[in-house]
Amino acid sequence: MTETDVVIAGAGPNGLMLACELALAGVRPVVLDRLPAPTDEPKANGLVGQVIRQLDMRGLYQACGGEAGPPRPVPGWMFSAMPMSFVEVADNPMHALMLQQPRLVELLVARAGDLGVDVRWGHGVAGVSPTSGGATVAVESSDGPYDLDATYLVAADGGRSLIRKSLGIDFPGSTSDTVSRVAHVKLPDDLRAEDGTYVIPGYGPLPFGHTRLGNGGLIAAQFQPGRLLLGTIEFGRTDGVGDVPMTIGELRESARRVIGVDVPIEAPTGPGPHALRRIDGQNSRQASTYREGNVLLLGDAAHVHSAMGGPGLNLGLQDAVNLGWKLAAEVKGSAPDGLLDTYDSERRPVGERVMMQSLSQTALMAPGPEIDALRQLFGELMELPAVREHMAHLLAGSDVRYPVGDSHPLSGYLAPELSLDDGTRLAELLHRARPVLLDLSGGGFAASAGAWADRVDLVTGGSADTSVAALLVRPDGYVAWATDSPDGLGLPEALARWFGPA
Ligand SMILES: Cc1cc2nc3c(=O)[nH]c(=O)nc-3n(C[C@H](O)[C@H](O)[C@H](O)COP(=O)(O)OP(=O)(O)OC[C@H]3O[C@@H](n4cnc5c(N)ncnc54)[C@H](O)[C@@H]3O)c2cc1C
Repeated sequence: MTETDVVIAGAGPNGLMLACELALAGVRPVVLDRLPAPTDEPKANGLVGQVIRQLDMRGLYQACGGEAGPPRPVPGWMFSAMPMSFVEVADNPMHALMLQQPRLVELLVARAGDLGVDVRWGHGVAGVSPTSGGATVAVESSDGPYDLDATYLVAADGGRSLIRKSLGIDFPGSTSDTVSRVAHVKLPDDLRAEDGTYVIPGYGPLPFGHTRLGNGGLIAAQFQPGRLLLGTIEFGRTDGVGDVPMTIGELRESARRVIGVDVPIEAPTGPGPHALRRIDGQNSRQASTYREGNVLLLGDAAHVHSAMGGPGLNLGLQDAVNLGWKLAAEVKGSAPDGLLDTYDSERRPVGERVMMQSLSQTALMAPGPEIDALRQLFGELMELPAVREHMAHLLAGSDVRYPVGDSHPLSGYLAPELSLDDGTRLAELLHRARPVLLDLSGGGFAASAGAWADRVDLVTGGSADTSVAALLVRPDGYVAWATDSPDGLGLPEALARWFGPA
C-alpha cells in the first residue's frame, strides 16, 4: 500500500488542470487514467467564457491559441441558434477560443509533466473504500492490481464516474427526449460555393452553427480544414437503436427528416479519428454534493448537460481552479476551517446556472408554434440592453459572485483586467497561483499583511485602470476583499478567512 496526499482519478482536461493547480501550490498528486494514453477522440472544439481569462491568469492563454496581450472579448454569441450582439455591453465579458480538446489535453499533460506530476496512463480505478483518513483506491494496471491510500481523492473520471456511483452520491436531473447525432462528414465538392459554404440542392446554404428548423435542429461547422462537422437534433423520438453504433447513413436519414431534402453525406476522408456520435436522450444532471468526506467531484463527474453553446469546459476548468488552492492548503495544513467546503458552496450554484441555461437552449430548439412564439418574445427581449448584458454574463459565467464576506462592489467577482503603471498585468501576477494583495495606495497596507507574507504576495504600485486603493485576490483570481480608502478596514479578517491565521 502506497500513501499519497491526493489521488486524481481521470486525466481528462479537468483532472489535469487540477493536477497542475495543486503542483503550482507545492502538492504533487498522483493522476490515474484507465486509458493507455491521452485520447485524440474529438470532443470540445473550443473554450467559451470567463475561463479564458483564468487561463490567462496562469500564462496559458497564448499556449491555447490566444493572441498576444490580454484576452479580447468576442462581439457576440449564440443562444439556442439565436445570434446575440454584445458589442454594446459595457466590459463585455464574453470570450471564445477555438481549441480542440485533444490539443488542450496535450498541453496540460506537458505542463503537468513539467511541474513534476505523476500521471499514470493505463492505471484504472477499479474500486474505492472510504477510510477514516481518506480513501483506499483499488487500481488496475498492466503491471497488476495495487492499492493507493489517499488522504484526498478527486473523482475527475467523467460523466459516468465510477467513484460518484461507488459512493452513492445522487445525480439528480433529467433526460431529454432528444436524439442528437453528429459526425465528421464529406460533402461532394460541387456543392461548395466560392465562399467555402456548402449549398444543399433544394435547401440552400448550410449556415454555420446551430439552425432551428420545423422538424428539429441542424448543426454545421468546419473548425478544421477539410473536417466538416454535421449534426442533427430531433425531438420526441427515441429510435430504440440502443447500443447499435451510429453510421453515416443514419445521420443522412436524420438530416433528410430535419431539413426535408437529401443531404449527400459521405464518410470523411483524411486522417482521423473522426466524430461519429449519437446521444439518445441528453442528460442534464448534477451531483447532490461535490464533497463526501475526503472525496471531491470535479468536472463532468459532478455535472453533465448539453454541449450547446460550449459551456462544459468553462464550468469544469473553473471548478479545478477553485478547488486547487483550497485542497493544497488543506494538505499543507494551512487551510482555515471550512475552506474546502467552500468548493461545494461556491461551485455547485454555478453548475446549477449552467444547467438552467443549457436546458433553456434545448427547450427553445424544439419545434412547434408555442416555441416559435417564445423565440419571438425572447428575440424582442434581447433588444433590451439590460437583457443583453444579463445574457452576456450568464453565458460567460461572469455573473458568478461568491459570498466572500466583503461588500465592496468588486468582491466575490473575478478580478478585473488591469495593468500597473509599469505595464505588469494583474493576470501575470497570478501565474504562480498564489494570493496577491495589490496595494495601489503607495504601500499603506504592507504592515497589516506582513504576518501573511509567507502565503500572500504583496505587490505595490499604481494603476490608471482602477480607483480602488487595494485588492486582495485569491489564487483563483477572485477578489476576496477590496477597498477604496487607505484605512484597510477588514483586511486582516479577510486574510485570515481565506489564508489562515496570522
Ligand atoms: C461532442 C462533444 C462536444 C463538446 N463540445 C464542447 C465545447 O465545444 N466546449 C466545451 O466547453 N465543452 C464541450 N464538450 C464537453 C467537454 O468535452 C467535457 O465537459 C469535458 O470532456 C469534461 O472533462 P473531464 O475532465 O471532466 O472529463 P472527461 O473528459 O470525460 O475525462 C475523464 C477521464 O477519466 C478517465 N476515467 C474514467 N473512468 C476512469 C476510471 N475508473 N479510472 C481511471 N480513469 C478513468 C477517462 O479515461 C478520461 O480520460 C463537448 C462534449 C462532447 C461529447
